[in-house]
Amino acid sequence: MSVIEARDVDKRYETRSEVVEALVDVNLAVESGEFIAVMGPSGSGKSTLLNVLGLLDVPTEGDVYLDGEPTADLSDRERTRARKRTIGFVFQNFYLIPTLTAQENVEIPRLLDRDSGTSERAAELLRRVGLGDRLDHRPDELSGGQRQRVAIARSLVNDPRLVLADEPTGNLDRETGRSVLTQFTEICEEGVSVIAVTHDDQVTEYTDRVVNLVDGRIV
Ligand code: ADP
Ligand code: MG
Repeated sequence: MSVIEARDVDKRYETRSEVVEALVDVNLAVESGEFIAVMGPSGSGKSTLLNVLGLLDVPTEGDVYLDGEPTADLSDRERTRARKRTIGFVFQNFYLIPTLTAQENVEIPRLLDRDSGTSERAAELLRRVGLGDRLDHRPDELSGGQRQRVAIARSLVNDPRLVLADEPTGNLDRETGRSVLTQFTEICEEGVSVIAVTHDDQVTEYTDRVVNLVDGRIV
């Protein structure tokens, strides 16, 4: 069964002057452990697709199925809970909190859970991405690639089954990008699915599948 599946998804944005068809008739099923690249020109709907698959936004038509269950009828609270349980996010600009250490940044998604194991879990994830000797470093004491690896560790702290990444190598040189992509392939080997929106051709050397979007359609 797919971890996440978009079925016949349309997403329209209606502004006062126009209607934008950001996604048109999108069908995409993601299996566990799959690493997928989403490519396409600017404005083709890549971020919209990530938001819809990440349950951050709802389709105008069609539905997104999580573990085979439709999500259209979930309340906001149920959708948030499903997202937190299943999905981790990694962004181009890392979004780390500058005053917190690497370890504290990784703990953030669990702060409200009052779980005594969170610190050890964060340290373990940082060791896994090769930052075991950087736990107490703040973001400005880390390189770009190290910051992105902190962001990857953070995306894994709730044991997601799916990681969604928007331009994860966009701010990194090629060599550093490769180490981040290697991290993603290792995550996939453990059964987590990864979907990365990218302009970076080298990403496709690591992915199982490339989805090309043009004007909101998969081509
Ligand atoms: P990409 O990430 O591929 O650059 P987006 O998914 O951000 O593309 O945008 C797809 C289309 O939807 C673009 O034409 C964009 O202008 C439009 N769009 C995105 N978000 C909104 C919004 N909140 N309101 C209106 N139009 C939007
Ligand atoms: Mg975008």
